[in-house]
Amino acid sequence: MGLIVQKFGGSSVANAERVFNVARIVTDTYKQGNNVVVVVSAQGDTTDDLIDKANEINPNASKRERDMLLASGEQISIALLAMAIEKLGYPVVSLLGWQAGFQTSSAYTSARIKRVVPDRIQKELDKKNIVVVAGFQGINKYDDLTTLGRGGSDTSAVAIAAAMHADLCQIYTDVKGVYTADPRKVPNARKLETISYDEMLELATLGAQVLNNRSVEMAKKYNIELEVLSSLEKEPGTIVKEAAKMEKMLISGVAKDKDVARVSIIGLPDRPGLAFKVFSKVSAANINVDIILQSIGRDGTKDIAFTVAQEKAEETEKILKDYLLPLGAKEVKADTGVAKVSIVGAGMESHAGVATKMFEALMDAQINIKMISTSEIKVSVLIDEADADNAVKAIHEKFFD
Ligand code: ADP
Ligand code: ASP
Ligand code: MG
Repeated sequence: MGLIVQKFGGSSVANAERVFNVARIVTDTYKQGNNVVVVVSAQGDTTDDLIDKANEINPNASKRERDMLLASGEQISIALLAMAIEKLGYPVVSLLGWQAGFQTSSAYTSARIKRVVPDRIQKELDKKNIVVVAGFQGINKYDDLTTLGRGGSDTSAVAIAAAMHADLCQIYTDVKGVYTADPRKVPNARKLETISYDEMLELATLGAQVLNNRSVEMAKKYNIELEVLSSLEKEPGTIVKEAAKMEKMLISGVAKDKDVARVSIIGLPDRPGLAFKVFSKVSAANINVDIILQSIGRDGTKDIAFTVAQEKAEETEKILKDYLLPLGAKEVKADTGVAKVSIVGAGMESHAGVATKMFEALMDAQINIKMISTSEIKVSVLIDEADADNAVKAIHEKFFD
């Protein structure tokens, strides 16, 4: 007998039939003598719908009120799942994030979990209840509801597994595991048996939404092995664990992120300190910068281009226009029609030519590269957004077919 945490995403609980499907998976696990804590997300597109509703009333609504609304999606799914489990004849209790002990930072809509105090969960498990917990939400020091950012239920599940020293943490979703590329976009993507925390963290950060990147960060920190698997097809999924236990694959996956924008500064006076000032202005506004490119100076000027999240493009452009145009820069412009495509693999540390192979795939597909960035285990390129799906397919084919 052990403690098992099982997380089910929105599509796994999208309708009554799916809710009963989840109830059966959970009660089967319970029947085998395990303590079971279940974390669920909001049903289907509920969170998107709630965001639309908020924007209809007030697009500038405070983040506190947004969280008050967004947290309601998960309240519906925990109650419905608990009702289904009751109907199957098992003892169950549903808990909101705060009842389950999720204490978070105050940053509404992107709160960080500070600690999980699982006293109530433990009490319910001691009473032999199955415990169903609302993912994605917690409470801050002002006793206000917070949410953890999109896809945050994965992190809720890992946080419970860490706080309660669970024996197993399963992330059930609508695909059979982690694949070498999004299986909905690349039909011959392969399911991975295992992947290391570091590679999974890169893939998640670079756009593979199957796991939220913070959940992977937390799993690595507390050494929680994760299994990513399908709630609809009963077969082993992908194990995410420490690298030491596995063979290094040259490339473990290709990921795509359309949520990026390129900001270009043209004709910036070429003098010491300006790059520092540009990026200080940007970071002072809490805007994260990713790939940076600077041209060779000419005629006393230079160009700098960098990427930011798409939603920050307009703000970045405004900040830099206000600051740089008076200093003599010729132009500041943001381009949101771009996407970042990346390959990730621990094996590239010890193999030359991996980036070249990626560039060759793009050349063969006649896709132009705008920016490049590399690290020990990844290579990313910025390209036109319209080319993104083809790029992923071409690169995947080059490495895996
Ligand atoms: P959930 O609602 O269960 O949290 P998500 O929609 O957040 O599910 O994540 C699952 C989706 O992630 C899949 O349907 C798939 O389209 C997408 N995905 C993107 N990249 C990958 C990948 N490398 N492996 C598996 N799925 C991926
Ligand atoms: N329901 C939330 C979202 O859609 C959390 C999650 O699905 O993990 O982002
Ligand atoms: Mg998700």
